[in-house]
Amino acid sequence: MTTRRYFVHTFGCQMNVHDSDRMEEVLRAFGWSAAATTEDADLVVFNTCSVREKAEQKLRSEVGKLAPLKRARPDVVLAVAGCVAQQEGEKLLQRMPYVDLVIGPDNIGELPALVEGQRAGALPAARTVFDVDAPRFLAAAPDPGSGRVPVSAYVTTMKGCDERCSFCIVPTTRGPERYRPARDVVAEVARWVDAGAREVVLLGQTVDSFRDPELPPPESDDPDESQFPALLRLIARDVPRLVRLRYTSPHPRHATASLARAHAELDVLAHHVHLPVQSGSDRILRRMIRRYNRAEYIQRAARLRAARPDLTLSTDVIVGFPGETDADFEETLSLVREVGFVQAFAFKFSPRPSTPALKLADDVPDDVKSERLARLLALIEAQGRAHLARLVGTRATVLVEGASKASRPDRANERTTEGGATLQGRTERNEIVHIEAPAGVELTGEAAEVDIVRANKHSLAGALTEAALARAPRAGAVTSARRAAVRALPVLLALASLVAGGCAGAGYKVVKTSWNGGEVAIPSKDDAPGRAKAEKYMGDQCPHGFDVVREEAEPGAGTFRGSEASWRITYECRKEPIKEDGPSPKAIAFDRALEAGADVPDAGADADKPDPNAKKAKPGKK
Ligand code: SF4
Repeated sequence: MTTRRYFVHTFGCQMNVHDSDRMEEVLRAFGWSAAATTEDADLVVFNTCSVREKAEQKLRSEVGKLAPLKRARPDVVLAVAGCVAQQEGEKLLQRMPYVDLVIGPDNIGELPALVEGQRAGALPAARTVFDVDAPRFLAAAPDPGSGRVPVSAYVTTMKGCDERCSFCIVPTTRGPERYRPARDVVAEVARWVDAGAREVVLLGQTVDSFRDPELPPPESDDPDESQFPALLRLIARDVPRLVRLRYTSPHPRHATASLARAHAELDVLAHHVHLPVQSGSDRILRRMIRRYNRAEYIQRAARLRAARPDLTLSTDVIVGFPGETDADFEETLSLVREVGFVQAFAFKFSPRPSTPALKLADDVPDDVKSERLARLLALIEAQGRAHLARLVGTRATVLVEGASKASRPDRANERTTEGGATLQGRTERNEIVHIEAPAGVELTGEAAEVDIVRANKHSLAGALTEAALARAPRAGAVTSARRAAVRALPVLLALASLVAGGCAGAGYKVVKTSWNGGEVAIPSKDDAPGRAKAEKYMGDQCPHGFDVVREEAEPGAGTFRGSEASWRITYECRKEPIKEDGPSPKAIAFDRALEAGADVPDAGADADKPDPNAKKAKPGKK
């Protein structure tokens, strides 16, 4: 059977990117593979967004470009998914004759069967049914061997929205709020971390309204209180190897005192919150049906800052909303100054179909909207630049995401800095930092300590500290991300031959024990190249950060998907203090966690800092 190939074209927000990833996974599970271009594809999916203006015109133009392909190969299936699909349904089939399939966000799991129906000759179809009674969440299936595991992964916690902001189409296109069970969220976070991700971003339209009857009840009877803080605590406790946890986008209503307490208590939480405000005028906030006022927003932002004094805030703003006067706009500018946002996404209001604001007169002239937008962006830019300038001379921990996209877009996905390269990552506060890395250093997925040496317009330049440079994995060494992948591969390979309790032994005197690094899938059964590739997984560090005195790669017993050989990598670690005067902090952290029965902390990422979450892990968990 020839392989069927898909091409997914994604428009819009992070939620759509996430939905596209799930579409690709369900298609791959049914034997499909990715096509490099639409011309090579048997299925082309347009995953649409209707938040921006002229979404349907943009879609029409993209579909029109494929008309020659569809005429030459009528068997190619064209599908429209996402918010425009949900909003327009069957009407799209009438308006766009080349489209075969219209599929809503809640029907992604049905995509392979619907496409097969089209290939078998079924009539064009629309499937846009909300799963309100029995919500389904497609579980992500991170594949450590695929090269598709990002440093920062997205995990859905909910879908839909119960708010009724008068400018927004989302309640129509995504339906009412439905929450994913907390245990499923935690399990998916753990799967990503096991596969090599270092940061997780929790996704939801109002991510902080989360509820699950199995979690501890809300911390107060404030109607805005939710169980989101309890979810954050559960993740921090049960996935101790997670380096950083973010969430987007919270609704200010639910940014309660208990959420601020979670920020104060959980070191894994990023020191940054994107908290959409939309306007600084109470009159406009009422017209927008935002359900908070200016004073409440400012109080909630201040409470988050009090919990983490270096916490940064970014926001969304709409200018020129119906009825917005100069005085209303000045209120917005003054709120932006008072809260001190360092970044904002700002837009001119434009009416959207099926939204309550359509009934309001769009009475702010476009040139006034443009002038207000320019003033707002200039203010935000000035605040952002002043913030970055204040950071020069400080030290920061940067989670490295890969080669700098700005300097070398062609190398953005490379993991090794052969010949030296500019790397890019983010601080806890979400500033982008570019780092010059020497040749052969492999920092992607590592939390590296840098000195901030320069502020650019929208980013920082940092230099690796001497300690970070000394600790930096070299090409071919076992990085934190790769260590995690190596740990996870045996699970995928269903091999039960691991030796548990590596590096075990009492005290810190010289104890040599073996840690079985697991079996890695190498796409070659041939001995020499297979061994060479297996050795790339090996390095001069054991997975727990102790000295390695011996390491070997040998052909393993299993095969992976019938075509790839597995290789067993064995490390022999010497568990002894690096310093003469006692055990190193990482060794202490490791042993404390081991004694508590917890999973071992990943000492490699931040070797001198005990894992702050390890002590919270419970025996038997994960
Ligand atoms: S909270 Fe408001 S702006 Fe956000 S998705 Fe819901 S309705 Fe739209």
